[in-house]
Amino acid sequence: MVTTEQLYEIYKKQPIICTDTRAITTGCLFFALKGENFDANTFAAQALADGAAFAIVDNPKIAKSDRYLLVDDVLTALQNLAKHHRKQLNIPVIGLTGSNGKTTTKELIRAVLAEQFKTFATKGNLNNHIGVPLSILSMQSDVEIAVIEMGANHQKEIELLCEIAQPTHGLITNVGMAHLDGFGGFEGVKKGKAELFAYLKTNHGFAFINRNNPYLLEMSSKADLNKVIYYGTEKENTISGKLKHSDPLIEFEWANQSTTYEAKANLTGTYNFENILAAICIGDFFKISAEKINNGLANYFPTNNRSQLTKTENNTVICDFYNANPSSMAAALNNLKALNSTHKTVIIGDMFELGPEAAEQHLLVAQLAQQNQIDQVIFIGKNFYEFKDQFNGDFFATPEAAKEYLINNPIKNSLVLLKGSRGMALEQLLPLI
Ligand code: ATP
Ligand code: MG
Repeated sequence: MVTTEQLYEIYKKQPIICTDTRAITTGCLFFALKGENFDANTFAAQALADGAAFAIVDNPKIAKSDRYLLVDDVLTALQNLAKHHRKQLNIPVIGLTGSNGKTTTKELIRAVLAEQFKTFATKGNLNNHIGVPLSILSMQSDVEIAVIEMGANHQKEIELLCEIAQPTHGLITNVGMAHLDGFGGFEGVKKGKAELFAYLKTNHGFAFINRNNPYLLEMSSKADLNKVIYYGTEKENTISGKLKHSDPLIEFEWANQSTTYEAKANLTGTYNFENILAAICIGDFFKISAEKINNGLANYFPTNNRSQLTKTENNTVICDFYNANPSSMAAALNNLKALNSTHKTVIIGDMFELGPEAAEQHLLVAQLAQQNQIDQVIFIGKNFYEFKDQFNGDFFATPEAAKEYLINNPIKNSLVLLKGSRGMALEQLLPLI
């Protein structure tokens, strides 16, 4: 069996990790992970043939040459290697979790920190038990500060991710109605996310907390945190801010203990204001000047279909189809309500992973969509379809059916919110809007 230390010596010479035989880089280390429907041990020979330097496997039967490195369990070996690498990097790591806004906030923090430091941030959404180790292992030794997104849909996941990423600083963006199924309801979400606070408490790390969020305050006081930096709308906070305008892009002022600054971001959605304040708070904590902070924020343009404002030939579309859950749906619908437009359309798709609360949560969102002075509401998916006789609007069980409708009934001159869970893949509708 190969130990973590031995693996680390090999990794130092070949610091490229691959887990997908379709994306082998010459000289990489291929980790043969298992999924629900596959065991990559069976692909190890192919990975080696395609140019991998070594294959890390846990099936002794296939380890036929010294290019196979046998471990007890490939996933654990990957996680342990990442832990080991993290320890060698003696840098601040900001661990970031929350129900909504993690990736957006991570990108904003990156934009601010990169004004002054060689900054690493999780690429895309690589935020789970495989993504976090892969993120860490892609960090080179010249990185000065890192922001690691941690996603979770069940208890103890954040704890595990903290052990791997060893954050010195942490932020929970918010807690909401997301992954209710795996967490066991909203109380379960709070408990699961608070694992980050517990880690910071034990390891004397700093937490950045939005003082406007009562759940975060409750969780931080339960965790008995003492190294806390607050942000929020009130002046008592280390960083305070006031949203001045968000139609459609956000303009605001923010203040540290001495000065007030005016700033802008290329983001739509009032809910993004708290994400912005979090990034400012972290930038200020790491002694980045206000000018650089504002510059970093102003130069960040979202490109990731999270609240991305897009002009199509016929309409203005808020592309928010990367994901959805009841909290982010409510935030997006309320934001649309506040925006100025002579015509508004909502196209919303089902929200996944809600377990026994699915029916009720879809009902609540459908009610909100009705109340928000929207000219046309299009509901897509099996869950919403259940309510087709209770609400005004157009109901389609599948995106395909909605497509056909949109081809025959094009939307014109409207401000359109397009949002649904990843599994709904509502991006397929964008060419028709
Ligand atoms: P994932 O669980 O997929 O990693 P995430 O937490 O990284 O999601 P983002 O991808 O940043 O979240 O944002 C997804 C959507 O959540 C946004 O497009 C927006 O609709 C909503 N959102 C973002 N920030 C907030 C917030 N502070 N409060 C409520 N909803 C938000
Ligand atoms: Mg994310």
